[in-house]
Amino acid sequence: MTGSSVFYIVSTPIGNLEDITHRAVRILREVDMILCEDTRTTQKLLDHYYISTPTQSYHAHSSAVKENDIITRIIEGKTFALVSDAGTPTISDPGVKLVTRIRSDVPLTQIIPIPGVTALITALSITGFGGNQFTFYGFLPHKKGRASIFDQIAESERVSVFYESPHRLLKTLKELAERFGTNRDICVARELTKIHEETPIFNAQEMYHYYLNDPSKVRGECVIIINK
Ligand code: SAM
Repeated sequence: MTGSSVFYIVSTPIGNLEDITHRAVRILREVDMILCEDTRTTQKLLDHYYISTPTQSYHAHSSAVKENDIITRIIEGKTFALVSDAGTPTISDPGVKLVTRIRSDVPLTQIIPIPGVTALITALSITGFGGNQFTFYGFLPHKKGRASIFDQIAESERVSVFYESPHRLLKTLKELAERFGTNRDICVARELTKIHEETPIFNAQEMYHYYLNDPSKVRGECVIIINK
């Protein structure tokens, strides 16, 4: 058994493959194994940078048996990098359970972040809403707890940020329009770093109609930012 192994949490691009650090590329080359949310998605990134490190899947539904196996190999001194499909692992992405297990089962392991992109910070940076104080809600619950989050946002003196999927975008914008009317500005940061990137800012009511009137834009990934 080795004294301390190393487990890297590596941020990867959210679209444009150039958005990765030199250090991340080097670490992905050097580790024994890359744990991927989806090996096929990560393989495109690895091919782009001629990285031939073996990959293995690790996702939200990975079993305790798989985690045990990873823990055993960490104890043997193997080095791992954890990546998700896009952005920073564990931020609305798999990895929290595994990191917690490593911290409790193999506490001498150095868990090292390799920083890079995360969609919420990328989105917030172009709004002009201010990035000193904000609340990030991850993905909103679909039913229970949703109304109370909208209440919190309404009462909040901070910028509010959450992730949204394209097929729920219109429903959410409708709810925001009903709740905030013309009183609050919203940015929908869509397809960041990709060909069809757009980051419109309108009040809640205008934003709903902007997307309602152009269904061709109701696609891709987006972050919703609501000004205070
Ligand atoms: N771990 C990721 C991160 O660091 O941002 C987030 C993963 S979460 C499963 C995926 C969500 O992130 C998407 O539904 C969307 O809200 C946001 N997202 C990811 N890539 C994006 C992009 N290129 N443009 C806008 N939002 C994006």
